[in-house]
Amino acid sequence: MSDKVIYMDNAATTRTRPEVVDEMLKYFTILYGNPSSVYEFAGKSRDAIENARQTIASTLNAKPNEIYFTSGGTESDNWALRAVAKAYKSKGRHIITSKIEHHAILNSAKNLEDLDYKISYIDVDEYGVIKLQRLKENIREDTILISVMTANNEIGTIQPVDEIGQIAKSKDIIFHTDAVQYYCHLPIDVRKSNIDLLSASAHKFNGPKGIGFLYINERLKMVPLIFGGSQESGLRAGTQNVPSIVGMAKAAELAHKEMNSRIRTEMMNREYFIGRVLREIPYTRLNGARRNRLPGNMNFSFQFVQSAELLAMLDMEGICVSSGSACSSGSKEASHVLTAIGLDDELAHSSLRFTISEETTKDEIDYVIGILKKIIAQKRKDNRLIGYYNKARR
Ligand code: PLP
Repeated sequence: MSDKVIYMDNAATTRTRPEVVDEMLKYFTILYGNPSSVYEFAGKSRDAIENARQTIASTLNAKPNEIYFTSGGTESDNWALRAVAKAYKSKGRHIITSKIEHHAILNSAKNLEDLDYKISYIDVDEYGVIKLQRLKENIREDTILISVMTANNEIGTIQPVDEIGQIAKSKDIIFHTDAVQYYCHLPIDVRKSNIDLLSASAHKFNGPKGIGFLYINERLKMVPLIFGGSQESGLRAGTQNVPSIVGMAKAAELAHKEMNSRIRTEMMNREYFIGRVLREIPYTRLNGARRNRLPGNMNFSFQFVQSAELLAMLDMEGICVSSGSACSSGSKEASHVLTAIGLDDELAHSSLRFTISEETTKDEIDYVIGILKKIIAQKRKDNRLIGYYNKARR
């Protein structure tokens, strides 16, 4: 194992910024009051939460009373689907989503199917963009919700959120978007895009883990996912995680302040990385769109090698990347996202995701490409020999 770590798995999680940690510290050791307590000392915790709500709302063009703190993206996604299903069931029991959503959405949808809701899973094209015509054709009288992610966590494809918002609005259907990979990386305006619900998670934008939020348009009828006390306007019970809420707001503020320069740096490095890999490593394909993708995302299939073998060899060199999403990387099944864009099982099992940040340097990229070239050539040679050997034995 190498001493040096080269981290190219920012879609799995990001480094918490020191400025964020600094901001959080006093809410552990000095201003530690319970925000629901009535005395003045606890009021400081309450103020911190309300300031954070204001900061986050301003990054989305939302109102502060439309931001609800949760434990992260998974909870926000579960809440969005389940609450709409429950609160609007007298209007209908049909929900539309896409085939390439994160499991937080897909497994929530599956659970709703068990409760007698009908779910339509819309196809995507070869780049992972949802087929809008299919989406329109699947809308029914009893459709209550469309849930389509803003950008995909594996291949980085950005969805036509404005168009989906328009379609939903014209049919009076609620529109939820899982913006966990997108929020704080590219700009978003919930009013302009007609988004009614939006999920986000702090650890994907240099904030702490275990904290996120759900934006809920104030006109929606909502019901809680978690029952208990009356925190978060009675919609999300449980003592708020004050330090993490403060940290998330700080991370969001910094990300928005520095967004343009970060996008430029990441895109420049991404283009350099993609160009070199496609030119210098034969039998390689880029999964997802060439440009319509998150600034730091790359996903390649390296034919004739297994991603599991490559992951292990890259790990020995201290290089952190992933195959599929972090949550399902232990799974033997081919990625549902890669399958949905048309890859066969073999190619899907030869795929790696590299997600760089603004901290990734050109030297790191050159080093990783050098190692990739070496281990892919070696593995292909070994695998060919094993193939010949097995054929000879048959
Ligand atoms: N949605 C997407 C698109 C994600 O990429 C992730 C995490 O990888 C989640 C939801 C879950 O977020 P969290 O890790 O905060 O639960």
